[in-house]
Amino acid sequence: MELPAFHYHRPNSLDEASALLARHQGDVDLVAGGTDLLPNYKNRLNARSHVISLGGISALQGISTRRIGAMARLVEIERSPLLQTRLPVLAETASKISSPPLRQHGTLGGNLMLDTRCYYFNQSPLWRQSVDFCLKAEGTKCLVVPSSKGRCFATYSGEMAASLLILGAKVELLSAAGARTLPLAEFFDEDGIVRFRDRKEDELVVAVHIPEEAEQLSCGYRKLAIRDSIDFPSLGLALGLRINKRGVIEDLRLATTAMASRPELLDEPMAEFIGQQASAQLAFRIGEVAQKASVAYRNVPLDPKYRRKMVAVFTRRLLEAISPAFAN
Ligand SMILES: Cc1cc2nc3c(=O)[nH]c(=O)nc-3n(C[C@H](O)[C@H](O)[C@H](O)COP(=O)(O)OP(=O)(O)OC[C@H]3O[C@@H](n4cnc5c(N)ncnc54)[C@H](O)[C@@H]3O)c2cc1C
Repeated sequence: MELPAFHYHRPNSLDEASALLARHQGDVDLVAGGTDLLPNYKNRLNARSHVISLGGISALQGISTRRIGAMARLVEIERSPLLQTRLPVLAETASKISSPPLRQHGTLGGNLMLDTRCYYFNQSPLWRQSVDFCLKAEGTKCLVVPSSKGRCFATYSGEMAASLLILGAKVELLSAAGARTLPLAEFFDEDGIVRFRDRKEDELVVAVHIPEEAEQLSCGYRKLAIRDSIDFPSLGLALGLRINKRGVIEDLRLATTAMASRPELLDEPMAEFIGQQASAQLAFRIGEVAQKASVAYRNVPLDPKYRRKMVAVFTRRLLEAISPAFAN
């Protein structure tokens, strides 16, 4: 299918980009690698008249252990020797996203700002017309939860968010009004349409910032998908652990993606395990609690009950993989 017509802008600086965003506010999209936006445009999913490419802005590049620029490509994150050594969960997560050719183009910023997905939304115009359209594009009700009264239940599937959440990352935003930085955990919305609770329409993501303490965590990431490659997750789960020599948990962080309309940091449910002695029984219990705290809807390929069960399974497997204290 052909792309719809739009005005294409390619600024060379952040100032130029934020002025363009402010000028066309309400009828503009940003494009980074284009691997999510352009397929959506081809399906006529909420296309705008103006598209601003971020490809010419050098200030959005760069990878260090404290800061990753929004235009860092997934392949650069996957292959960065620095991240592989110091924050390996980021390289591991990037390596599981879509396929090698898409990772050459896809960026961190685009992955974080990925549009939510749904069985009723990511379809051709003809298909969507056959079900009278959905709330997220041209329709009046959510077809996943028809009684939802104006709330969209599309699923957020960006994978980097889960790993960045357990690392305690912050997101740096910029608009013509200035810059600000906020915790990633406060960034996402529960609604599948108004996805970004704290991003204004004229803001762009400049970078993510990672605290130094993140390097003290031992982390891992697991992905559930029908195929091993070129497939969005039906569940992504990141786990971070700090455990002392006596096997006592000092820090435990768990985040999921592809379950609800935003990635979820399960910080409150995990708090009860801090100070507890690691064991196989405790790993089982942590998995149970994580499963109980997770919600999922019937709008991506795999069954919600199965995805919730897999939250427990992945949690247990990651704990065992990270520390032998959980295997006994
Ligand atoms: C076949 C296929 C399989 C895929 N599989 C996966 C998968 O397994 N896991 C996964 O996570 N993703 C998957 N994707 C989605 C996508 O390839 C990746 O998420 C990629 O990282 C998106 O980055 P991008 O730069 O291409 O984003 P783009 O398409 O350029 O942009 C995506 C969204 O982010 C916004 N945006 C981009 N940059 C910024 C910024 N700096 N500030 C503010 N907004 C911004 C855009 O306006 C747009 O709304 C898949 C895509 C396809 C086509």
